[in-house]
Amino acid sequence: MSRLLVCCVMLGVLLLPAQGRTARPNPVQVVSGDGITLERYFLDLSQGSVGLLRLVGDTITEAIANFRGRSTPFVMAEDGFYALVVADIDTSVRSYPLQVIVATQDGGLQTLEVTVNVISAGYFGQVFTVPSDRAYLINPEVERHEFARLTALMQTITYQKLWDDAGFKPPISSEYSSAFGLYRILNQTVQTRHTGWDQTAPVGTPVGAIASGRVIYAGQLDIRGNYVLIDHGWGVFSGYAHFSQINVMVGQQVVAGEIIGLSGNTGRSSGPHLHWELNVNGEWVDGVAFMRMWLP
Ligand SMILES: [Zn+2]
Repeated sequence: MSRLLVCCVMLGVLLLPAQGRTARPNPVQVVSGDGITLERYFLDLSQGSVGLLRLVGDTITEAIANFRGRSTPFVMAEDGFYALVVADIDTSVRSYPLQVIVATQDGGLQTLEVTVNVISAGYFGQVFTVPSDRAYLINPEVERHEFARLTALMQTITYQKLWDDAGFKPPISSEYSSAFGLYRILNQTVQTRHTGWDQTAPVGTPVGAIASGRVIYAGQLDIRGNYVLIDHGWGVFSGYAHFSQINVMVGQQVVAGEIIGLSGNTGRSSGPHLHWELNVNGEWVDGVAFMRMWLP
């Protein structure tokens, strides 16, 4: 399957298993405490990727995972508590402790610890030219301001899982023209990172939500142009940029594949395409890799 996947990605077609419909795989590591069990569903974490943890135990009231200075809450599901831990795009390649702190009904706290290797994703550089009439958009201050605005929007975690059994799938079916994580040199001066994936799309291509969720932003941004941001719950958000037309409103519930707008060329864009991006617990992550994960 993995060889097939790689070759299809190279061809620009993505074959993905239907998430949520397949049985939960076996954990790669199980750590037990007093009446609690921590299951780890990933081996190493690539820079810019997400790993799934599950906690099981009748007396658990709440839990957090501490990884590289970030606390990620476990969210309750029918079959246990889950957390999505993230190695951000800039994580140095080495081993890190991952601590799970669990509160139980008797008022006790237990700490379980595993070691996580962060491995290189091999991100490389790409030269990118912003048209002269939009060159003001390479101002790092504009980018900082926009990131701060998006961070504020994604601050609130919805503890309810908003995606359904359809899981996550690409917003359009077309070739990938630029990968997540690339270092980009804009107009030979400014360096930035590519926070999402680009797919080829003539202006006006209908774009579907990658999973069901709730729209938390629908409007104009400097760099992303006409932009839609969807909360999928559990700290997972997807964004869609450079639209020519937005079809949804803030607060609207959408289902997987529902058309949320038409692709375009607005904002800091050098030609018509769809840029879409995934943020998990405050970090931009590789959305295509996320779609290959098993998710509850
Ligand atoms: Zn892009």
